[in-house]
Amino acid sequence: LDDLIAEGLITATGVAGLYGRSGRFEAIVDGLRRRISALPVAAQAEVFHFPPLMSRAVFEDNGYMSSFPHLAGVVATFAGDEREHRALCEDLASGVDWLCRCCSADVVLTPAACYPVYPLVASRGPVPLEGASFDIESFCFRREPSTDPFRLQSFRQKEFVFVGAPEQATARRAAWMAQARDLAADLGLRFSVEPASDAFFGKGGRIAAGRQHEEELKLELLVSIPGRDQPVACMSFNLHQDKFALACGLSGLKGATVHSACAGFGLERLAMALLAMHGADPKAWPAEARRLVG
Ligand code: ATP
Ligand code: ZN
Repeated sequence: LDDLIAEGLITATGVAGLYGRSGRFEAIVDGLRRRISALPVAAQAEVFHFPPLMSRAVFEDNGYMSSFPHLAGVVATFAGDEREHRALCEDLASGVDWLCRCCSADVVLTPAACYPVYPLVASRGPVPLEGASFDIESFCFRREPSTDPFRLQSFRQKEFVFVGAPEQATARRAAWMAQARDLAADLGLRFSVEPASDAFFGKGGRIAAGRQHEEELKLELLVSIPGRDQPVACMSFNLHQDKFALACGLSGLKGATVHSACAGFGLERLAMALLAMHGADPKAWPAEARRLVG
C-alpha cells in the first residue's frame, strides 16, 4: 500500500480500502479492460456498464442479504419534514448517531457486477436457444475494510455473463477459463486455478461454501505476488446453476431450464498484480505485458 501511494499510483482517502487512482494506474486498468473484451470468447457479447448502485428488490431476490449481510452496503436517505430536519441537525451538532433519522432507499450498493443482468434478460422473455452473452463492468462495494491494497471496499469487476442451457453454461465457463489463463500467462503472471467458495455468513453459510467448493462451482485464478505468502484471487469463474434464473424468473423456450455462469475479473487486483510483478513503471515492463495492456 505504501509503495503504491509513494509511487503516485493511488492516493489515500482516509478510509481503509478506498483510494483515488492516478492516470497511470487507470491507463493500466483501461488496457486490461480492452484486452479482456478482445478475448475471442467475448465476441458477440452485449456490452453494458452499470452504476455502482442497483435495485434493492433485485438484491433481495438474489439472496445477497441473507447470504452475505456482513459484506453488504445499503443506502439510507433523509425524507423527513422541517421538524425532523431540526432534530437531524441537533444530532449532527451533538455528535449523536443521526442515521436513525433516515430511511432505507430503493437502491443498494452493487455487490457483484452481474446482478443487474438477470432481470434484464428476464425482461426480454424466454432465453433464446443460443443463450444470452454479456460483457459488463460495474463498481462493486464490499464491506471488508483492510490495509491490504488487494482488498478494497470499492473496486471494479469486469465480468462475462452467460444465461442459457445448463450444458452451454458449463461449456462457456470452460472457454472463459481457458482464454483467461492464456491471458494471465501472456501478461507474465504466475498463477494457479483452484476451487474456491464465497464468504457466506455464519454456520449455515459453511454448508453452502462447502458445497460450492466440492462441486467446483467457483474456480479462482490465484496470482502469486512477490513478497506475499498467500496468492491473490484476481479472477473467478462461477457456475450459479439455476440460482439467479429462479430468483429472476428466467426460463428458456417452452419452459426449458436455464442456468447462468459468470467470469469476474478484478480490475484493480489485476493492475496491482502487474505492478507488483513487473514494477511501478509500465515503460520498464516486459515487452509482451506492455503490448497487451497497450
Ligand atoms: P475474495 O475471495 O478475495 O474475497 P471473491 O472470491 O469474493 O474474492 P468474487 O466475488 O469472485 O471475489 O469477485 C471476482 C473478482 O473481484 C475477484 O477475483 C477479485 O479479483 C475481485 N474482488 C473481489 N473482492 C475484492 C475486493 N475486496 N477488493 C478488490 N477486488 C476484489
Ligand atoms: Zn458474477
